[in-house]
Amino acid sequence: MDIPTIKLDILVLTVHPDDAELGCSGTIMKHVAMGKKVGVVDLTQGELGTRGTVESRMAEASEASRIMGLSVRDNLKMCDGFFRNDEQHQLQVVREIRKYKPEIVISNALFDRHPDHGRSGDLINDACFLSGLRKIETALDGEAQEVHRPRLLLQSIQDYYIKPDIAIDITDFWERKLEAIKAYRSQFFHEDYSSDEPQTYISNPDFFEYVKGRAMEYGKYIGAKYAEGFTCRRLLGVDDLFHLR
Ligand SMILES: [Zn+2]
Repeated sequence: MDIPTIKLDILVLTVHPDDAELGCSGTIMKHVAMGKKVGVVDLTQGELGTRGTVESRMAEASEASRIMGLSVRDNLKMCDGFFRNDEQHQLQVVREIRKYKPEIVISNALFDRHPDHGRSGDLINDACFLSGLRKIETALDGEAQEVHRPRLLLQSIQDYYIKPDIAIDITDFWERKLEAIKAYRSQFFHEDYSSDEPQTYISNPDFFEYVKGRAMEYGKYIGAKYAEGFTCRRLLGVDDLFHLR
């Protein structure tokens, strides 16, 4: 029996399992609490990560998904470090966008310390546009897919400092955001994880201080304790000025 595909309100398309948790898990959980359906599709399995294995990373992603209350977590198994923004990869992403028909897509930053992030951000931007072109025909399980272009595409902000175009108050979800990040025990400092693998800058306990500092800085400017920031390539509009703070 075919399981009907769920329509998502928000689809997060980011390259490594843990990018969604670091960049936008507070926003995800805030919208899940509002009754929105949110899914994350990771482009790769993060197989080049210094610590952990593909298997441990998948188990960690599944635990983080449970904490965030995701409707869907999927993985496109592109090649970590070496995927390209080309026709083959764009069509792979177009199929996901047409499958889940999200109103809003969140991608990686367009420029970041890890070169995969910028390449992923560009790939998702291109795929969101291409997904709306009816002369690009795609099929899923032998069925032709309908065209679909998300009405809003936002980029999350991860490592490099980027001035956001919009900030979202995530104060009520801050502790759970930390929980979702800490689900990646092999990647970040965790009291219960010990291994003789090399330390990385994200496995140092100080990394959480930096994550907190960033969230507090974005929060300060919108009168919140903690916030996540996003950029958008196009001008953002609102119907009600009182929805802005
Ligand atoms: Zn990453």
